[in-house]
Amino acid sequence: MALIDGFGRPITYLRLSVTDRCDFRCVYCMAEDMQFLPRKDILSLEELAIIAQQFVELGITAIRITGGEPLIRRGIDQLFSTLGQLPELEELTLTTNGSQLHHHINHLVAANIKRINLSIDSLQAERFSALTRTGNLSRVIRNIDLALDAGLRIKLNSVILKGRNSDEVLNLVDFALHRGMDISFIEEMPLGLITHHQRADVFISSETLRQRIQQEYSLTPSKQTTNGPSRYWQASGYSSLIGFISPHSQNFCGDCNRIRVTAEGKLLLCLGNEDSVDLKQIIRQYPNENERVKEAIIDGLVKKPEKHHFTTNGETDIVRFMNATGG
Ligand code: SAM
Ligand code: SF4
Repeated sequence: MALIDGFGRPITYLRLSVTDRCDFRCVYCMAEDMQFLPRKDILSLEELAIIAQQFVELGITAIRITGGEPLIRRGIDQLFSTLGQLPELEELTLTTNGSQLHHHINHLVAANIKRINLSIDSLQAERFSALTRTGNLSRVIRNIDLALDAGLRIKLNSVILKGRNSDEVLNLVDFALHRGMDISFIEEMPLGLITHHQRADVFISSETLRQRIQQEYSLTPSKQTTNGPSRYWQASGYSSLIGFISPHSQNFCGDCNRIRVTAEGKLLLCLGNEDSVDLKQIIRQYPNENERVKEAIIDGLVKKPEKHHFTTNGETDIVRFMNATGG
């Protein structure tokens, strides 16, 4: 089976959000006083497994578990174990803020998870706490080292905001390279109405960051991909990749291979578009009729737009926060 969208793009990669909740409140991702979904509206672990399996049977070969913070979802290790046993699934991965990682490393390894993405925006303790509103940097770094010791490969993700953490780009690169990790720098996306800052004021382009890094490291473009939207460069003398996710400055929609399922079971065809298909409604109305879920997925793909579209006249169109979307 192969899933092909209306623009001929093969869809092979699913981002599956298992919760909209989080123990952090990153300033670019959430409002300070977030309203979270009622628990009854969240897919159960069994529903998540059934939905994932339908995607795999339709030709999805890679699944990334995300959120919110996936590692605060009770029973999540069971889902890793179930999905890790799907024979046609070539890769199972995870995006995490790292705060709870120490409780899960053994389960991740046992579920055949080889690499994870870990978000870290600052290496200064006070700034890290300010950007995440609740996070503890030393705990996250300890967990990074534990995960590396256990053989997990890590890619760091850093959202860079001008004047907030843009002076740390080289420190973050050094931190990644010296531990043998990859790192991607992300331009902030206008998802959800936040009050912490004006997004236009803190925008800094990937190209500016790349030029800054180039002053210290000799970078050559790399053809490697990790299924996602990062464009990678190789620093000479190091095995790690340095990536840039540039939703503003470099549209990556042309080779988009991704779809998302939100924690409430909506198949979301594009990060920058509100079109969705309610898979939870189908699975709850017709339990054990999984063919209906498959049909809805195939029909839904027709709605996948050609490009993302975040703003009209500078105003955010997408009121959905990133934690509700599944980053
Ligand atoms: N809690 C996990 C984490 O932080 O890695 C997984 C979910 S989080 C929504 C996934 C990724 O989305 C993180 O790397 C985060 O930095 C990024 N993110 C959140 N809000 C964003 C925004 N408005 N623009 C760009 N990236 C964002
Ligand atoms: Fe939580 Fe991840 Fe959003 Fe930060 S980026 S608030 S860690 S979901």
